Amino acid sequence: MTEPLSEHSADVIVVGAGPAGSTAAYYLAKAGLDVLLLEKTAFPREKVCGDGLTPRATKQLVSMGIDISEEAGWLRNKGLRIIGGGMRLQLDWPELAAYPDYGLVRKRDDFDEQLARQAQKAGARLYERCNVGAPVIDARTGRITGVEAKLGEERTPVTFHAPLVVAADGNSSRISLAMGLHRREDRPMGVAVRTYFTSPRHDDDYLESWLELWDRRGPGPDRLLPGYGWIFGMGDGTSNVGLGVLNTSSSFKELDWREVLKAWCASMPEEWGYTEENMTGPIRGAALPMAFNRQPHYTRGLLLIGDAGGLVNPFNGEGIAYAMESAQIAAEVIVQAHARATPAQRELALQRYPKILKDTYGGYYTLGRAFVKLIGNPKIMKLAADRGLSHPVLMRFTLKLLANLTDPTGGDAMDRIINGLSRVAPRA
Ligand SMILES: Cc1cc2nc3c(=O)[nH]c(=O)nc-3n(C[C@H](O)[C@H](O)[C@H](O)COP(=O)(O)OP(=O)(O)OC[C@H]3O[C@@H](n4cnc5c(N)ncnc54)[C@H](O)[C@@H]3O)c2cc1C
Repeated sequence: MTEPLSEHSADVIVVGAGPAGSTAAYYLAKAGLDVLLLEKTAFPREKVCGDGLTPRATKQLVSMGIDISEEAGWLRNKGLRIIGGGMRLQLDWPELAAYPDYGLVRKRDDFDEQLARQAQKAGARLYERCNVGAPVIDARTGRITGVEAKLGEERTPVTFHAPLVVAADGNSSRISLAMGLHRREDRPMGVAVRTYFTSPRHDDDYLESWLELWDRRGPGPDRLLPGYGWIFGMGDGTSNVGLGVLNTSSSFKELDWREVLKAWCASMPEEWGYTEENMTGPIRGAALPMAFNRQPHYTRGLLLIGDAGGLVNPFNGEGIAYAMESAQIAAEVIVQAHARATPAQRELALQRYPKILKDTYGGYYTLGRAFVKLIGNPKIMKLAADRGLSHPVLMRFTLKLLANLTDPTGGDAMDRIINGLSRVAPRA
């Protein structure tokens, strides 16, 4: 491991210790780089989320050496139960060589802390209560060479220095904005809200999604919303109940999502306990930045990972797996660049990061954008919800497509169709 240059200097600064930042810091530190991981809050801290982890995210946790045993408090799930059009279909996660056949559930306050501690154990230097503000920019080259931050309860100003900075500060990514990287308006955006209830359904071993969320305002017919509601048992006496909706419907800006969630919960069987008295916390919400909605993913010493780079899957709103995967890719690229002898060589290596991201997810996200547009039409959404579930084979295909769970090489006919479509779709 290289010696720290000083307390506030390093080879790489990672801004934000969510799943993206902690994963990047973990892999960078493991490879022997000196890493500063700067986090605005102090752990444990709440993060608004559905707390659901698919086999993709599970694989990432395994790679990082996190103990995901049931004894360590992880609740496993076998698949997805889909409810819509008066039907209920239970689909197991596919059997694949590349991914495990189970997912997990874990509350984010504890989940994020475990990842951050794992990065620390690998050697990353974590600063909590470290609110990063402006980037430090080299006036001659325009490159980022550090960040200004306010540290601790006293908010002491500190300047941190590093030749590379990783933006892992989530959807609003102040550091990216300050470097001139704004959101692309032509990419889908979702919004999601959730709360917790004490419930007898707390130990469900399937993730559950409901395809029918209604906009029941106005004198006209009710409109089906593009999105889904979820019920994830937390295994601790509570359920995480929430909904995610896309901005491709005309109702998007007009609806109060907390009210839609309340109305949906009120329509459920009383014995499940999703009532106001059983709510253990307020309804909270946040945005879902999808399909590469901030680009480029590398410029002038700054790499974007996770929500900062808009990596949420537009098909299903999943973000944790993509945050961790992009972090691992970015870390590998940085480690290779770090070993190059000249600035020009390092730059060449770093330019690979956006290319790898596009090769890995670009085609799939383009398909996702088409899907999002389609289901923005209430008639198509209704057709899918009403008819889709009566075709179990079609639904198994849909699960693989929506959860991005295929074997990259080999695999079955469904895998080959999905991989083929992703390969031919433009990688924008
Ligand atoms: C309601 C809801 C439900 C969801 N459900 C799921 C789900 O079930 N499964 C799933 O996979 N995904 C889900 N997602 C998406 C998922 O939460 C995100 O994609 C994921 O958290 C992205 O991780 P990240 O590390 O990129 O960003 P974040 O988790 O947002 O982490 C960013 C970190 O940066 C820190 N930070 C921000 N600004 C600064 C600053 N200036 N200085 C220092 N630190 C800073 C923050 O405190 C935070 O710790 C959901 C999202 C929402 C809103």
